[in-house]
Amino acid sequence: MKKLAAGNWKMNGLAAHLSEAEALAGAHAQPGCEVLICPPATLIARMAQTLGDAPIALGGQDCHSADSGAHTGDVSAVMLKDAGASYVILGHSERRTDHKETDAAVRVKTEAAWRSNLTAIVCIGETLAEREDGKTLDVVGTQMKGALPDGCTAENVVVAYEPVWAIGTGKVPTMEQIAEVHDFMRTELTARFGDAAAGIRLLYGGSVKPDNADEIFAVSNVDGALVGGASLKADDFGGIIGAL
Ligand code: PGA
Repeated sequence: MKKLAAGNWKMNGLAAHLSEAEALAGAHAQPGCEVLICPPATLIARMAQTLGDAPIALGGQDCHSADSGAHTGDVSAVMLKDAGASYVILGHSERRTDHKETDAAVRVKTEAAWRSNLTAIVCIGETLAEREDGKTLDVVGTQMKGALPDGCTAENVVVAYEPVWAIGTGKVPTMEQIAEVHDFMRTELTARFGDAAAGIRLLYGGSVKPDNADEIFAVSNVDGALVGGASLKADDFGGIIGAL
């Protein structure tokens, strides 16, 4: 299984920041893992041009469930593909909070991504209150059941475990907590998708930095990372890529 270092630029990045992607490509001409940047949709086509043949994949941060039509302000999976993307992040906790996205909505968006041959990175994770109530595995299991369509394979889906309380906070679960959730996710995927589940990559996300990447990547069933803040600078993201 090829591990995945995925950068989520969120609502950050102007044309001036294309140089960070260029610097990353220059420093990691032959990375030991798959490298992905998900810039804002406005930058995907230009970043594709900037990167040329460099081994860095591009992705969107959301897509609509429809392929085209009267949906002002939205971006479809067809458009992301056309701009040069091969991945799309779906169901990020910020989308769930800011746009009231439900598991059912994430599921139909995942199906839309598949129609355009995009790999969906489906995000799940508990809030602090849910963890403190001992509901983490319940929440993660419910989100997986609701957000993942039938037919998940190693090629069409990646699942990212992102505890909401760890995103952008500098707080990281213990390695035992990460292992518990990732082992549970693998078991759930195997129960539902059989042999296909073995190759589905499980990313950890939430305050991953160059200085904690080594210990996180050593945890069982952690097949890479979804990185926010530390993906914006080539040096930081490069440090994480080097740890995989
Ligand atoms: P962070 O964000 O690395 O800045 O915590 C992770 C994410 O939201 O994907």
